[in-house]
Amino acid sequence: MLSYRHAYHAGNHADILKHWVQVLCLQYMKKKDKPFFYIDTHAGAGQYALYEGFAQKTGEYKDGIGRLWAQKKVPDVFADYMTCVQNQNEASLKFYPGSPMVAAQLLREDDRLRVVEMHTSDLKHLEKNLADDPRAQVIYGDGFEQIKALLPPPTRRGLILMDPPYELKEDYKRVLAALQEGLKRFATGTYLVWYPLLNANYSQRFAGQLQQLPCDNWLNVQLQVTEMPGGHGMYGSGMFVINPPFVLREQLLEGLPWLVKLLAQGDGADYRLEISPATK
Ligand code: SAM
Repeated sequence: MLSYRHAYHAGNHADILKHWVQVLCLQYMKKKDKPFFYIDTHAGAGQYALYEGFAQKTGEYKDGIGRLWAQKKVPDVFADYMTCVQNQNEASLKFYPGSPMVAAQLLREDDRLRVVEMHTSDLKHLEKNLADDPRAQVIYGDGFEQIKALLPPPTRRGLILMDPPYELKEDYKRVLAALQEGLKRFATGTYLVWYPLLNANYSQRFAGQLQQLPCDNWLNVQLQVTEMPGGHGMYGSGMFVINPPFVLREQLLEGLPWLVKLLAQGDGADYRLEISPATK
């Protein structure tokens, strides 16, 4: 049973980190004049209304994209990300683009999108959102399993976003297994893995487990919006990037201090940035 609906969380602090990193990596892929595949293993609906329904119930976006939207000027390193959000809106903030629509905005004519979703309601929205895009193929299925069918991409260039809900603890293990499989088939791909920061052993050790994967070129960034709570609740999130663009570390260092200040929800807001020893 799939109960997770991303519409409750669209545009929150975790989406900001995820989609900002996604944009920086996509822009880097475009520097080479050779087409690539963008693969989204857990795609969601593609676009979310912020003015009604699920998003209004939680209001999470107000402390995420709402705060960025209210800025007269953002640091240059956020400009392309903000353009993706602005393109979905007019004067006021009403919609938030999910990862497939962020990618669709940035990909070139010869690049391709392969987006996988397993929840039938979100799938319907996703199909509608990408219906007129000849570069896109929407796949109904299990994103972890689809790694086998989709890798390596025909062009041998690819960016893979893995963004499961982690409502089931099993997702942590499935991410690790899917990445093992992915790296076996396509070792040179750039893989972006989003994960939540929770006060729980399985969450605290996850970044370390990702670092043990058979790849010695990675970057791990975490954005913590408040201190770790005594109980449940997400206090931040991380992005683990395998084969990151070499400029990514510098770009993140340029933007993170500003982002932490802007998105802080309490004491203890901070960021952490690590890269693999071989990358240094
Ligand atoms: N990547 C999206 C974005 O950034 O806009 C958000 C994705 S949301 C965090 C996770 C999505 O994965 C949900 O839409 C959920 O229905 C879907 N899902 C859950 N398990 C899945 C699976 N095994 N394979 C594919 N999709 C799955």
